[in-house]
Amino acid sequence: MKYRRFGKTELNLPILTYGAMQVGEPKDENVPAEVTRRAIEAGVNHIETAQGYGTSEERLGRILKDHDRDKLTITTKIGPQKTRDEMWKKIEISLQSLQMDHVENLDIHGINRFETLELTLQKGGCMEAVREAIDQGVIGHIGFSTHAPCEVILATLNTGEFESVNLHYYTLFRRNLPAVQRAIELDMGILIISPSDKGGKLYEPTDKLVNLSKPYSPIELNHRWTISHPGITTLTVGCTYPEEWEAHMPMADRDGPLSEEEQAAVQRWEDQYQLLDSTYCSVCGDCLPCPEKVNIPEILRLRNLAKAFDMTEFGKYRYKMFENAGDWFPGMRSDKCTECGDCLPRCPLDLDIPKLLFEAHDIMWEGEKGKRRWE
Ligand code: SF4
Ligand code: SF4
Repeated sequence: MKYRRFGKTELNLPILTYGAMQVGEPKDENVPAEVTRRAIEAGVNHIETAQGYGTSEERLGRILKDHDRDKLTITTKIGPQKTRDEMWKKIEISLQSLQMDHVENLDIHGINRFETLELTLQKGGCMEAVREAIDQGVIGHIGFSTHAPCEVILATLNTGEFESVNLHYYTLFRRNLPAVQRAIELDMGILIISPSDKGGKLYEPTDKLVNLSKPYSPIELNHRWTISHPGITTLTVGCTYPEEWEAHMPMADRDGPLSEEEQAAVQRWEDQYQLLDSTYCSVCGDCLPCPEKVNIPEILRLRNLAKAFDMTEFGKYRYKMFENAGDWFPGMRSDKCTECGDCLPRCPLDLDIPKLLFEAHDIMWEGEKGKRRWE
């Protein structure tokens, strides 16, 4: 296993992190215990969970009793609270669940909007408890996790309050590059959220993606592309069953620059967008804001993937989250577009945005085919 410095925290983390969100899923606790054992034996000694992940912290607490705590780095995440006291209560709940007297790293969970950032930084609020907990050695370091648009991430990075960031950035999703670059400038640790799932459900790849990736697997190529950025510290891998580690472990020792053959395979992914011809969306975001809050760039990114890589199933998985996942996956679906035309002059590629949105809806929406607003 290769390890990297987690920015200014000076923690030394493996390039693969065990993301333990699913640790509470299998009924038989021996299953996640085995997942954890395999991870730790392979050198994956950074485990990441959250208070919001159901029974994950409690299960981990029991499972990790059988391991040498001193050799582990634990990150948990807690959403921002209104007051210092409420935040302290939450910190105590997490430690109790984990059966630990400290964690090396705490992330404020889900700074997804400017309002959440304000709440996090509000005077007398949760950061006060965090600072006290750091002084008392209950928390080692403070970071944040985010599913926000890039401008919110940049604003959060620029507060200087955090030592690390936990965000989305993959071969097939590069909108957060400015945030990655800024975090590197600020010497912050960077953890990439679940690249195999959020990066395109790569554990169930389409035939097209498999063929374009050869001789690598899509998971392998995406891991390699991401970790070949020297400023990125670690990638979370969320295995539910022990054998799932097999797809990831071959990358544990490969953290150098991309080889020529790997670069050529990534280039084949890139070239595939040419299939979209004049309907390709660069996901620049210039078309926003939409008065109906339609998430134009993300919908058209999913359309890009469906058209270029046959990734319709991934599109369906993400598309149904609009209007259902709050600020974790914000914005409205395409059928809320009223064809007002506001976005059209802002698109540098001159795309017929409503037409592409409706096409994307027809490809990806599996729910009731309700009438469009103007019908
Ligand atoms: S045309 Fe549709 S997507 Fe564009 S701004 Fe109007 S409502 Fe939004
Ligand atoms: S529709 Fe146009 S403006 Fe909007 S994200 Fe795509 S390319 Fe950019």
